[in-house]
Amino acid sequence: MPAKRFFFFILLITTNTWSCKPKEVVVSPTPPATVTFAAQPKNIVLMIGDGMGLSQISAGIYSRDTKLNMERFSVIGLQKTYSANNLITDSAASATAMACGKKTYNSAIGLDTDTIPCKTILEEAEERGLATGLVVTSTINHATPAAFIAHQKLRIMYEEIATDFLKTDIDFFVGGGRKYFDEREYDKRNLVKELRNKGYHISDYSPKNLSSLTSKKENKFGFFTSENKPPPFSQGRRYLPYASQTAVQFLEQKSDKGFFLMIEGSQIDWAGHANQGYFMLDELLDFDDAVGKVLQFADKNGETLVIVTADHECGGFAINPKSKRKRLRFAFTTNNHTGTMVPVFAYGPKAELFRGIYENTEIYFKMMEAFGFQ
Ligand SMILES: [Zn+2]
Repeated sequence: MPAKRFFFFILLITTNTWSCKPKEVVVSPTPPATVTFAAQPKNIVLMIGDGMGLSQISAGIYSRDTKLNMERFSVIGLQKTYSANNLITDSAASATAMACGKKTYNSAIGLDTDTIPCKTILEEAEERGLATGLVVTSTINHATPAAFIAHQKLRIMYEEIATDFLKTDIDFFVGGGRKYFDEREYDKRNLVKELRNKGYHISDYSPKNLSSLTSKKENKFGFFTSENKPPPFSQGRRYLPYASQTAVQFLEQKSDKGFFLMIEGSQIDWAGHANQGYFMLDELLDFDDAVGKVLQFADKNGETLVIVTADHECGGFAINPKSKRKRLRFAFTTNNHTGTMVPVFAYGPKAELFRGIYENTEIYFKMMEAFGFQ
């Protein structure tokens, strides 16, 4: 990392510049009295809490006096997360299942079991003239976002995955991992420069940069929140709710045809791997704040289908005996993912499609049907 940028990055972390917006008040989970939805969604926002099982959500519920935004959803389903080669999926295979409708092997990014690239819902939307976006709290080329935009044999091919961003016309992205774009070891390409040549406005994330967005047809934006992995919420990361709110507002203006946006609360999973209950809770509540922002938009917009789900559970997390409200006793059975089903919450036009128990691949087909793409 160049010394100047390194200094800037350290400054960001130590001074919490990106948390200069005070933590925003949690959106009231009470819906407005009269929300009328269109018959079909123009927009779909898929929100993935990585590693977010039912116990994680329960811990969020029992750690607060007010209801979670996730408690507003009335359409609820369950999805089976296993991959093509393992009952315990990883994020690459599960994200590919939701993005493409195909079960694949653990570690595959946007490929089927024969390593043939599969067209993702983001690419399907883009092809039909909809605007597209990704907002995450991991690096932007991490497994979950990668599976919606890239096609690579292994999730660890970070620089190759970054290259795939040049092959799409994604309109808006926010996440970490700038170094995979402009300090590459694999080749000497500078992808930040190449994105700029393609008409993108690329900058480091700040609330100010985000508030100055303009939605002219030709404008596309990429905001890097860190050189590598963004910090956890407990170390001052605050951008997810605001970036999610900005993303839906920006994308709405961007195309008359609608938009597809994937938002990931990436670090719920990392807390599960680390077996740290309070780390998990911070990340889950931050993700729920983002859900609140998106629901607020969906209520006003009326043509937006919001889906909140997970890619898998992580940690075998439990709320153990002797727990009390706000004094929970956490326990974990593993520092890896587990095979339990995960919930699917849906809100807005065509939400009813998401009721029932089904394979993770169905998320793709249900989104395609809701959009009327078939
Ligand atoms: Zn994981």
